[in-house]
Amino acid sequence: MANCKLPEDLIEQAKAFHGHWCSGLAIGIRIAEAALDTVGHNGDEEIFCVSECDHCAVDAIQFLTGCTIGKGNLRIENVGKTAFRFYRRLDKKAVRISKLNAIKYPNEAKMQELRDKYASGALSEEEKALYAALRKEKSDQILKSDLAALVKIEDIPFESFPRALMTGSVTCAHCGESTMETKARLFKGKALCIPCFEKLIKEATS
Ligand SMILES: [Zn+2]
Ligand SMILES: [Zn+2]
Repeated sequence: MANCKLPEDLIEQAKAFHGHWCSGLAIGIRIAEAALDTVGHNGDEEIFCVSECDHCAVDAIQFLTGCTIGKGNLRIENVGKTAFRFYRRLDKKAVRISKLNAIKYPNEAKMQELRDKYASGALSEEEKALYAALRKEKSDQILKSDLAALVKIEDIPFESFPRALMTGSVTCAHCGESTMETKARLFKGKALCIPCFEKLIKEATS
């Protein structure tokens, strides 16, 4: 029985969304669990999230908290840390939830050895199978561990973030594709998309 309080079918859906079962997704699921406990789901309250990483955990946050790149309420400020800041507009509650290193994984050294070997050459089929098994074991362990041993939750000062801007589009005079007004560039009196603008500027100056 998983210690994670989220329903098992939801966890399965998160795995399907991400495409594989890994420890990064697992820790993301637990961080999402903590976020839902402290600030709630974006569908109920307006939540803005800043991710301090760009790895697998982000998919769990997107899938489970409703803070997504597409909706414009998730921003990636990648400093390589498994930490997420959540800002609730309604009452200005803000928390930072980060991964702790308190838990020991029995086969971490073996996994690192296999990762190093993978980087410097090919793993044998046996070693690939072993790595997959160890990865599953670690991910499952993360789901079963106490939340308090896995993540740190701290209150942080509230910051407000702009809501997603809805703007019109203009047709690029060069390629004919639509581009957002706020991204359009003017060159010789014509509105251009950024790639065409950069191409024409390069041609004009080379
Ligand atoms: Zn992953
Ligand atoms: Zn264009």
